[in-house]
Amino acid sequence: MRGKGERIIFLADCQSFYASVEKADHPQYKDRPVAVAGDPARRSGIILAACPIAKSYGVTSAERLGEALNKCPDLVVMRPRMQHYIDISLMITQIYQGYTDLVEIFSIDEQFLDVTGSLRMFGDPITIAQSIQRKVLQQTGVKVRIGISSNKVLSKIATDIWAKKNENGIFTLPKSEIETLLWPQSVNKMFGVGSRMTAHFARLGMHTIGDIARTPLPRLKERFRARFGKQSDIQAEVMWRTANGLDDSPVTPGTFNTAPKSVGHMITLPSDYTEIDQVNTILLELTEEVCRDCRRKGYMGSVISVSCMCSPYEDPTGFSRQMKMPDPTNNTNIVYEAAKTLFYRYWNTLPVRRIGLTLSNFVSDQEYQLTLFDDQIKTRALDKATDIIKDRYGSAAIIRASSLTPSGQAIERSHKIGGHYK
Ligand SMILES: [Mg+2]
Repeated sequence: MRGKGERIIFLADCQSFYASVEKADHPQYKDRPVAVAGDPARRSGIILAACPIAKSYGVTSAERLGEALNKCPDLVVMRPRMQHYIDISLMITQIYQGYTDLVEIFSIDEQFLDVTGSLRMFGDPITIAQSIQRKVLQQTGVKVRIGISSNKVLSKIATDIWAKKNENGIFTLPKSEIETLLWPQSVNKMFGVGSRMTAHFARLGMHTIGDIARTPLPRLKERFRARFGKQSDIQAEVMWRTANGLDDSPVTPGTFNTAPKSVGHMITLPSDYTEIDQVNTILLELTEEVCRDCRRKGYMGSVISVSCMCSPYEDPTGFSRQMKMPDPTNNTNIVYEAAKTLFYRYWNTLPVRRIGLTLSNFVSDQEYQLTLFDDQIKTRALDKATDIIKDRYGSAAIIRASSLTPSGQAIERSHKIGGHYK
């Protein structure tokens, strides 16, 4: 089954990760429906994870807490503990590292493992997968599902389409069998294809993954260009390669903290904001958080995106727009000015519910060319000093004066990770 020179790659996914961790820590809820949700009082009452029992009542992640409670009045709702989940995730990564050095963190609850070199020591792939499942379950109470194939994209697909639905949580998708197993699947099951892309493919008359795979690449590029313009060549190629199970990329340890594609933060406001001063305060806080993360990681971004959702919740309006800045930067004042320009260009003055800000298209800040016309060195030194104090004493230590007005959220947020309580 295994072709010559083929690797053996796992994608290991933790089932209902946050909810599983909470159930392991609260054995009294073992047989109860449990969900982890944000703080309802602050309107972030969104289900982040639901255990399988809760899911059997129809509770799904990303729905509102109120809807979930309608479906399942007995639902045990727990507040997220993000730092704890990060700790458990690192613990699981360490378990994987007991089997191979090549472990790549893909998200908080998904890791790639290259076990090609581990067979001699630990046995065949299924034996290794079962051993990993046992160990993680024993130590953390989390059930792991494992897709097995010869590259990352196929092992991810093996997990998403099959291993998550299997009783034993393991599925092998050999490259040689993608034509019979993968190609008959509908397009929306393919990794990287959302509902929008599914609709595009439907309009191109493509309904199965095989429809994409069997279209010659130059033809697919042509059809994408007709729909999306010249920029779409790369996207067409990614789709085509995924459908054909082509992926040479190595499993790269330690990619979690290096080379992020973007850094972003988002905030759901405690009440609707309509005043420019209030909105500016939030934009500044978001800018500060994003720029601080970028400085800590050593990146400067040249594309800024601002997203905004306006009331009412049931029928939200809003926008998500991006713009290129003249030079890559992680300077708070420069990014703040750009954020305001972008926001006020598109804001329709409806009450604001949620604002997000993202910086992307990074270069390393080591390579950055100083321009002669700007007092860059001084402002960069000031940003750096602020960061050091915040790192040492917590991010509430230095708060810009505007954050002390009632619309400021920075003090509240310093107790949270990704908008959730630590
Ligand atoms: Mg998962």
